[in-house]
Amino acid sequence: MSKIVGIDLGTTNSAVAVVDSGFPIVLADSSGNRITPSVVHFDPESGDVVVGELAKRGRNVAPKTTVYSVKQYMGRRYHECQDDARSVDYDIKASDKGGVEVRLGGQSRSPQHVSAEILKHLKAVAEAGLETEITRAVITVPAYFNDAQRQATIEAGELAGLTVERIINEPTAAALAYGLDKLSDRAKVAVYDFGGGTFDLSILELTEGTFQVLSTNGNTRLGGDDIDQKLFEHLAGWIADEGGPSIIDLSAEARARVRQVAEMAKIQLSKEESFEVLLPFLTPEYSFSGALSRETLEGLAKGVVEGTRAHCRRALEDAKLAAKDLDQVILVGGQSRMPLVRRMVSEWFECAEFEETRGDLRLGEDYHEAEGPTLNVSQHPDEAVALGAAIQGAILTGEFKDVLLLDVTPLSLGIETFGGLMNVIIPRNSTIPVKAGETFTTAVDGQREMLIHLLQGEREKSKDNWSLGRFTLSFEKAPRGVPRVGVQFEIDVNGVLHVLARDIKTGQERLERVQSVVDVDDADVQQMVEESVEHAFDDLAARRWIENRLKAKEILVATQQGVSLCKDELSDEYLEELQSAIAEMSTCLGPDPDQDPDYVGDWQRLKELVKSMDELTADLAELQMQIVMEEMLKQKGLG
Ligand code: AMP
Repeated sequence: MSKIVGIDLGTTNSAVAVVDSGFPIVLADSSGNRITPSVVHFDPESGDVVVGELAKRGRNVAPKTTVYSVKQYMGRRYHECQDDARSVDYDIKASDKGGVEVRLGGQSRSPQHVSAEILKHLKAVAEAGLETEITRAVITVPAYFNDAQRQATIEAGELAGLTVERIINEPTAAALAYGLDKLSDRAKVAVYDFGGGTFDLSILELTEGTFQVLSTNGNTRLGGDDIDQKLFEHLAGWIADEGGPSIIDLSAEARARVRQVAEMAKIQLSKEESFEVLLPFLTPEYSFSGALSRETLEGLAKGVVEGTRAHCRRALEDAKLAAKDLDQVILVGGQSRMPLVRRMVSEWFECAEFEETRGDLRLGEDYHEAEGPTLNVSQHPDEAVALGAAIQGAILTGEFKDVLLLDVTPLSLGIETFGGLMNVIIPRNSTIPVKAGETFTTAVDGQREMLIHLLQGEREKSKDNWSLGRFTLSFEKAPRGVPRVGVQFEIDVNGVLHVLARDIKTGQERLERVQSVVDVDDADVQQMVEESVEHAFDDLAARRWIENRLKAKEILVATQQGVSLCKDELSDEYLEELQSAIAEMSTCLGPDPDQDPDYVGDWQRLKELVKSMDELTADLAELQMQIVMEEMLKQKGLG
């Protein structure tokens, strides 16, 4: 069977790897480089295309026709990208279909076309290295890429003449590369992946050699480029303070040089304490030089790195784990080479001591004894993902066996119940495939059908969640609470939701399918989760209010019916007590939900009123029962 290569198509850098005689290796180009900058230079006149290191250098000379960080536009709408602060020196515009196009002189190219050039280059590197034609690949994407972004990646592969056998998540690929399947059973690992343009944190668990993704959280628009941007702004301010030109007065070429030196300084400052910034002839009259310290860089970068912390926390919460429950934290992505990142991550995850030299972290005795997870940086952070993709390729061809990758549900799934509340059937971050169900009943007498409203999201009220569709199940007329409808949710390996609703009495059933409840837009998921946290308090109060209101309404109606039936038999004093309790409860119930669906009253007060009404109506209920009995006997001619 022909080889399947693994490709890490990164925002900043890309790499291609393969499993050769049982060993995964990253392939080098003819100059010995194993990492290819994801930069493509187009020559509008000759039509020539240059990819990689040479193109990266071309950014200074021809910034308008040198494309980088194009991954941020893959499969995205133009209007979404306009809000992004991440600036580039080339121009983009909206395509006819609302997507993004890169302008190159008189022509324009889709992000897929630009990415295809990178993939063609990597294909050629692999073919030269392996001396055989390569047509099949596994390509990695950030864990939070949505369907459209994944699809665009597949298209790029096809445009490059590759069959994309599988798209896999970068952190999961990294875990494979770190050989985590060799860890002990039930070992838990956090994969902290901080690249040029994206950040992901995934929590994985090993069960009998199988990886399970317990949770993932991240941001497709947070990365090392943000640190470069901070440093770029700092340099611009510094140049102006020194009496140099304002950054907006500089030529595009000069600006690109400042940007390039910013990244260079950041990388050097991972090894050195100080870096000499040299920018000769920013204008014909002005040159700049100055010493930049690691401390200054760290001051600028701290906020960006801090931005990854909330994602780490959320992923841990979703996996229901504390940092100390983890066995290892793996660092992946070029930006994780920064000492500040390592220090902060180590602190957040309460990691055991570690040495920074590669190879020294390989699970020595000391680390088993130490408390907290080991911070593992034993792999080159920028090669791990490509290696993992190659291993996945080898699994597909049968060269490697016994490893299975599982996905999780990004948001909870459920149905709407009484009072417009969300009833969760499959919680967020459940490993798929998964199956779960519940039995429901009716709220109204004589109801003949049940409306099943499918929902996805983390909010308590149905209207705040995403509607996935509605359908009805009919059954025989019966008093409320009598019909029983079983609703079962099943998510298959492809992320398709199958909903089965069955009337338990007659066996009558309906089956509905909802495509892709797993591959949903990352930004939307993030927004939903953030909103659920933001509104957690209000949402809970609303849920408690609705639930108590339903109970109160029920007891109120029953009491009113009881009073009108037994009026003549009640003492004046008791009647008065009942009427005042009815009045108090009616006031506390507030407006009708049809008129003011957002009204939330004092649920605790209502709960107290329900309790006291319950106690107060004990005699009424007894009397009511007597009257009904007497009535029945009379009807039968026995009274
Ligand atoms: P990746 O997307 O994984 O290739 O990561 C690229 C990002 O890592 C870019 O923002 C680089 O500037 C950054 N990077 C690469 N090497 C280093 C380093 N030694 N120190 C700090 N950042 C680095």
